[in-house]
Amino acid sequence: MDFAIAPDQQAILDGIDSFARRHLAPAEVRRRDRDRVPPYDLLPALAELGVLGLAAPVEHGGLGLGWTTLALVQERLAGHAYFAASICNRVVAFGLMTILKNGTTAQRADLAPRLIAGRCLIALALSEPEAGTDAGAIRTRAERVTEGWRITGRKTWISDAGGADYLLTPCRTAPGSMGTSGISLLLVPRVSTGIAMTELAKIGNNCMPSWDIGYDGVIVAADALIGRENEGFKALMSTLHYARASMAASVTGAAQAAVDIALAHVKERRQFGQPIGSFQAVRHMLADMQTRVDQSRLMAWRLAWLIETGRSCRREAAQAKLVATETLQFVTDRGMQLLASAGYAADSDMQRLWRDGRLYSFGEGTNEIQRDLIARELGL
Ligand SMILES: Cc1cc2nc3c(=O)[nH]c(=O)nc-3n(C[C@H](O)[C@H](O)[C@H](O)COP(=O)(O)OP(=O)(O)OC[C@H]3O[C@@H](n4cnc5c(N)ncnc54)[C@H](O)[C@@H]3O)c2cc1C
Repeated sequence: MDFAIAPDQQAILDGIDSFARRHLAPAEVRRRDRDRVPPYDLLPALAELGVLGLAAPVEHGGLGLGWTTLALVQERLAGHAYFAASICNRVVAFGLMTILKNGTTAQRADLAPRLIAGRCLIALALSEPEAGTDAGAIRTRAERVTEGWRITGRKTWISDAGGADYLLTPCRTAPGSMGTSGISLLLVPRVSTGIAMTELAKIGNNCMPSWDIGYDGVIVAADALIGRENEGFKALMSTLHYARASMAASVTGAAQAAVDIALAHVKERRQFGQPIGSFQAVRHMLADMQTRVDQSRLMAWRLAWLIETGRSCRREAAQAKLVATETLQFVTDRGMQLLASAGYAADSDMQRLWRDGRLYSFGEGTNEIQRDLIARELGL
């Protein structure tokens, strides 16, 4: 197994750093967070760098460079700004891979080039007021009508829905069905008659607005169906490992950024006539933080490698997500302790990472469910 970064990968990472110097300087990241500015305007430039099509097969307009390279890129991007990596994850995992895996030839031909070019955003509208962890409890329903489908229901906490072109909306299409069967995926244009959206106030991830969405008899064409009728949940599950891989790598990047900030601070800050980094309690804290981040990185790389080489990865995907997200919480909690008042200041980068990182252990599949999944894979 080769852990060395190849010259072509290094060139891509250098490109990410130069992009970040132009668009994601620390002051700009703080401004976006403070003013709650989502990164949709950066998508075409990220596309030009090749990030959005990096792992997609060449026959679909991608670069075919594989998931290990994408993991390196996601980590590096998130080290500059997590929100930039997160929007790429939405385009690549929830958008592109869902369409490539489950779409018809016409849907792939229409959507893949636009997604890869950073000219299309698809939000996943799965969660509902009564269906969070238990995604099979969704009630939003779609019935066949002459024009195609009529959708009625409500989705909540949908990230980036306001900036999306489409809402990928799992709906119950088999009347009387229960749980994860009888669900179909419908690609709903966000600007549709009958859609009412309200932005939700929240404590972090300010550059990723969250929306409550009402669907009041929304009509979409018959070809809005992605994948097979009543098998939408299976289709969603078929791309989950891509989202986990992107997320694990991105969260690792955010965690490394937190360690780097803490490290710089403990070398600089002096108390009792010496740098606080000379106290053993502080040194051990940093040693534990970096070790946890290295564990998280190795698991993210393993997952990316499994995907790239076409191997099964259900357990490893859940593990990578679990370890990365809990690592970020561990290191930002310690980081807040080490920076103390400097971390508690409203414009400190550590507090942003700490606030934002609180989401990821329950967003995109709670860690309790990841543990259940890992146990199931162990035969329990
Ligand atoms: C900022 C933000 C962005 C989001 N973005 C999106 C998005 O883009 N699209 C989307 O569809 N959804 C999104 N969500 C919703 C997110 O996926 C849900 O919050 C998540 O699935 C958990 O659901 P819940 O909040 O209703 O918690 P609940 O389901 O009420 O769970 C509460 C607690 O109970 C635990 N629990 C529940 N069942 C079990 C069980 N069987 N065993 C053990 N523990 C259990 C959970 O793990 C959790 O700790 C977002 C949420 C937030 C806050």
